[in-house]
Formats: sequence, C-alpha cells, structure tokens
Amino acid sequence: MSDCIFCKIIEGQIPSTKVYENDKVVAFKDINPVTLFHVLIVPKIHIENLNNIDESNADVIAEIHLAAKKIAEENGLVAKGFRLINNCGEGAGQTVMHLHYHMISGKELGTSI
Ligand code: 5GP
Ligand code: ZN
Repeated sequence: MSDCIFCKIIEGQIPSTKVYENDKVVAFKDINPVTLFHVLIVPKIHIENLNNIDESNADVIAEIHLAAKKIAEENGLVAKGFRLINNCGEGAGQTVMHLHYHMISGKELGTSI
C-alpha cells in the first residue's frame, strides 16, 4: 500500500530499528514507546486489521506469535514476562491501519489489562 507507514517501513523507505525479521513478519521499535521495551510486530503483507483475517492469511497470526517468542528469548523477556496487544479498529485505538501487535515489557506493567 503506497500510503501505509508500516508498508514503507517494511520496504525500507522509512527508517526503523528492526529487532527481528523473517520472510513473513518484521518487528521494529515503536517510535513512541510506552514502556522500557516496546516493539511492533507486523506481517510483511498489508492487512488492515484482524477483521481482514481469514483462512487464506491466518498463518501470519501464528508467525507473529512465533516471532514474539523468539524476540522474548533474544531480549531476556522470558523470565521477565511480556504483553502482546492488538488494537483492532479506530474505536479500539488503532491509528495505523496495517495489522500490528504491540509487544511490551517493563517494570511499569501492572497485573491487569
Ligand atoms: P496503534 O495505536 O495503531 O495500535 O499503534 C500504532 C503505533 O505505531 C503507535 O504506538 C505509534 O507510536 C507507532 N508508530 C506510528 N508511526 C510510526 C513510525 O513511523 N515508526 C515507528 N517505529 N512507529 C510508529
Ligand atoms: Zn501496510
């Protein structure tokens, strides 16, 4: 998508600090972190949000979770714990219309959502 910020990051047209990448997904640091560790895990194909997931593209959801597991292992978050958050739709706070999961970890994290 030509006007999608995350597609531009994936294509390298907008710089980002990548922490993980494979053929299906990429993870990069959020430009405005809410806690010590805050990365965004996104599929390389443009999917607007979870409302557009079906049997043909659901593999990216598993890939995102597998990426989160690897990122946790590589960044010392297995014992510390982390949270994966998806905002689906403007009413839920989605501002970038390219499917993404926030992966956050930090001492500020409480026990509730
Ligand atoms: P949302 O509110 O859609 O769930 O989250 C979008 C996230 O994308 C926000 O946390 C915001 O800080 C992040 N973001 C927006 N533009 C950019 C950008 O150009 N680069 C990076 N690294 N993050 C961005
Ligand atoms: Zn996109």
